[in-house]
Amino acid sequence: MNNSQFYYPRPANEPIMQYSEGTPEQKALEKEIEKHSNQQIEIPLIIGGKEIFTGKTAKVVSPHNHKQVVAIYHQATEKEVKMAIDAAMNAHNYWASLSWIERVSIILKVADLISGKYRFLVNAVTMVGQGKNAYQAEIDSVCESIDFLRFNAHYVSEIYNDQPHSESGNLNRIEYRPLEGFVFAVSPFNFTAIALNLVLAPVILGNTVVWKPASTSLLSNYYLMQIYKEAGLPDGVVNFVPGSGSMVGDIVLKHKDLGGVHFTGGNSTFNHIWKNIAMNLENYKSYPRIVGETGGKDFVFVHPSADVKEVSTALVRGAFEYQGQKCSAASRAYIPKSLWEPIKKQMAVNLSLVKQGDVKDFCNFVNAVIDEKAFDNIMGYIEKAKNSKDAEIVFGGKGDKSKGYFIEPTVVLAKDPHFTTMEEEIFGPVLSIYVYEDEDFEKTLELCNETSPYGLTGAIFSKDIYARTKACQILRYAAGNFYFNDKPTGAVVGQQPFGGSRQSGTNDKAGSYLNLLRWISPRTIKETFTPPTDFRYPYMHEKKCDC
Ligand code: NAP
Repeated sequence: MNNSQFYYPRPANEPIMQYSEGTPEQKALEKEIEKHSNQQIEIPLIIGGKEIFTGKTAKVVSPHNHKQVVAIYHQATEKEVKMAIDAAMNAHNYWASLSWIERVSIILKVADLISGKYRFLVNAVTMVGQGKNAYQAEIDSVCESIDFLRFNAHYVSEIYNDQPHSESGNLNRIEYRPLEGFVFAVSPFNFTAIALNLVLAPVILGNTVVWKPASTSLLSNYYLMQIYKEAGLPDGVVNFVPGSGSMVGDIVLKHKDLGGVHFTGGNSTFNHIWKNIAMNLENYKSYPRIVGETGGKDFVFVHPSADVKEVSTALVRGAFEYQGQKCSAASRAYIPKSLWEPIKKQMAVNLSLVKQGDVKDFCNFVNAVIDEKAFDNIMGYIEKAKNSKDAEIVFGGKGDKSKGYFIEPTVVLAKDPHFTTMEEEIFGPVLSIYVYEDEDFEKTLELCNETSPYGLTGAIFSKDIYARTKACQILRYAAGNFYFNDKPTGAVVGQQPFGGSRQSGTNDKAGSYLNLLRWISPRTIKETFTPPTDFRYPYMHEKKCDC
């Protein structure tokens, strides 16, 4: 029995590889991209460590070349969903009773495998399957994944070390139990690292998981499962169940042993899940923990004192990186009249340099959106803007889905600050701009605060400290991640814990100890060294008392 005390110190963030022209890392990555673009794999379900081929299949295609089928995946039926829950429950006791040091060692091995042996593979399958360019894949699937794992190891040490005070005569302890039940992890398509963290954050604390991955990110998500296995994660701790979200969800959410839901995705999906849980409250052994990060309508607010080049750069990067398919993407901007013309001019220069196309060409800054449904939905918003008297397309506006789902970076000038594209999450490369009168700075901050139901990310650009402070006050609840003179995307684990409130989620801050606290059910234990042997208290021995 190893009785050493362990403490995992605060790690450094994983350095980002740049993949510059001619470097060995660029060559290694290109080789992997080629391989995964030109082969077709079969993706089974993985339940209790066993691969299951249901025969009910669907295709995984590359967003930039939808004729390219890179995998065929098997979908769960009701039977496999029930098997996955049983497998998670069977593994629960073994996994929960294992020393936390052993659990953390597996997690850290996953991080090492992604950092070294499988770095280019994880990047390549994220690029081929989810349509990210090399840099976007590197900061997500490699660096953020590794950071989640290493920082969580550190936070777990801190949490477990936190013990209550004891007076003389007794000893108090807190046992940080995992939840009594399994965790249902439901991941979105847009970040491989989020899929990893939704699953492995509860796992590091001794929970077991039924994982419903997004149907459009299965290529990278399947390889994650392979890496977990190689790192030594025991069978049944994570059960991989691709399939229809509503079918899988409806069965899992009714189960009496549902311990918690760890979700990231759209707001309406999360509302559906929460309502489903509410309907089943009487059936559960424990109240399930519900952690969900959902959509955003993230803003960049510009004060007249801001720098034009800084703002234009932030708008182009913040709105169009990964085709605007980030929950944090800048999707509305408020610009003072005095700066609009110079900002527009600078954006025209920037956008003329933006190249769009296949992920294989490293010159491309913008690639394709995830699938046809997303393409049609985004183009629908652009058409609305084209046909409205309240809006004007300033840049872009065209889409082409003949080979891949390509939409030009599009900027809409909204004459009405409540025009649809200023209010609703579009989740594509569309930025809406409202130009305000300079003297209406405060009034427009109020407008920004009240325009959208979300509260995820936002930014203020200002060289004037009073203006910035005012924005920070008025927009207090408008964003859970707020930026001064920076784009509203690109939160780094351990530096800017991520999450928002209002309709953007439960704000449990992925990549911080706050999230991990949701996956434990602490038990307090008091030990009394010399228990009393007389029930009477001293006051009862006084003379006047006749007892
Ligand atoms: P989505 O359509 O809501 O899907 C998310 C996941 O839920 C997928 O695995 C999906 O499966 C599954 N699902 C669908 N219906 C379900 C149901 N009834 N029960 C259980 N699961 C169900 O979202 P997405 O398109 O993948 O991701 C985009 C959204 O995620 C955007 O709104 C974005 O803002 C948000 N997001 C938020 C954050 C954040 O941290 N706040 C981060 C990333 C993304 P299928 O794929 O099979 O439909």
